[in-house]
Amino acid sequence: MEHQCSPRLTRFAPTPSGYLHLGNIMSFAITSALASEYNARILLRIDDFDRDRTNPQFIKDIFETFAFLGIEWHAGPLDVAGYESTFSQIHRTQLYNSALQQLREAGKIYACTCSRVQVIKADAEGTYKGTCRHKNIPLDAPGVCWRINTEEAGPLSVNTQKGIVLADFPHNMRDFIVKRKDGFPAYQLISVVDDTFFGVDLIVRGDDLFPSTLAQLYLAAQLGNTTLAKAMFYHHHLLVDEEGKKMSKSAGSTSVHYLRQQGCTPQDIFFRIAQMAGENVRPAGWQQLCAILQT
Ligand SMILES: [Zn+2]
Repeated sequence: MEHQCSPRLTRFAPTPSGYLHLGNIMSFAITSALASEYNARILLRIDDFDRDRTNPQFIKDIFETFAFLGIEWHAGPLDVAGYESTFSQIHRTQLYNSALQQLREAGKIYACTCSRVQVIKADAEGTYKGTCRHKNIPLDAPGVCWRINTEEAGPLSVNTQKGIVLADFPHNMRDFIVKRKDGFPAYQLISVVDDTFFGVDLIVRGDDLFPSTLAQLYLAAQLGNTTLAKAMFYHHHLLVDEEGKKMSKSAGSTSVHYLRQQGCTPQDIFFRIAQMAGENVRPAGWQQLCAILQT
């Protein structure tokens, strides 16, 4: 089982809840570099299912920023119109609901009435203690979320660029939510269903999302899905801002949108990312930035 086929499809998966920032761009550059290395294609998948957090302005920003920086991708929407007509996650609602139904029929889930505040009260780090696991709350009761039972979760094997890594199921993902209180499928479930649907087999993300990777591998196994187990995962370090803090969507001064308004050229932006990644070279373009970040 040591031999793995070379991955064929990777993805950019921005969430349109803020302007793209330098950390996002670095992640896309690392994704592009790996895609080139394996001769894999890149899918643009916009994670827009959370309608409360999705803003059309930020969807437009994704396409504008990609055009401005010369970022290339091979599959998925080419523009806002294509995204709306075909690629929005709204069009895959049925797939998410089928997965939820499958988990329900297999008896893997239970209903939980705990509020976020209650979960944090029970555990300062927000780890769910399984409070509702054996309460038999009806799954169709109003205002409940659905949690997946992870009591039996053993170590999981993650296929990485450096080989198979065995990892224990993460505490902060214990009985993670698969369906939210508002009735919508939750992020982990959407991500697993989408990556399977599109056949993504190279997943690049920040190392802060390693627990998500484990949760998703567990969920995929519960769904009888073997595609994700074969995918290669690459977790990269996150860029930090000048104060050493993790960049977030609210980090206005590191958004490409803001830097562009300040008169920065794409080369200025690439230089900043290269510097933040510890490389004191001035990339001439997108491909050069990707090559520099490839290690
Ligand atoms: Zn609960």
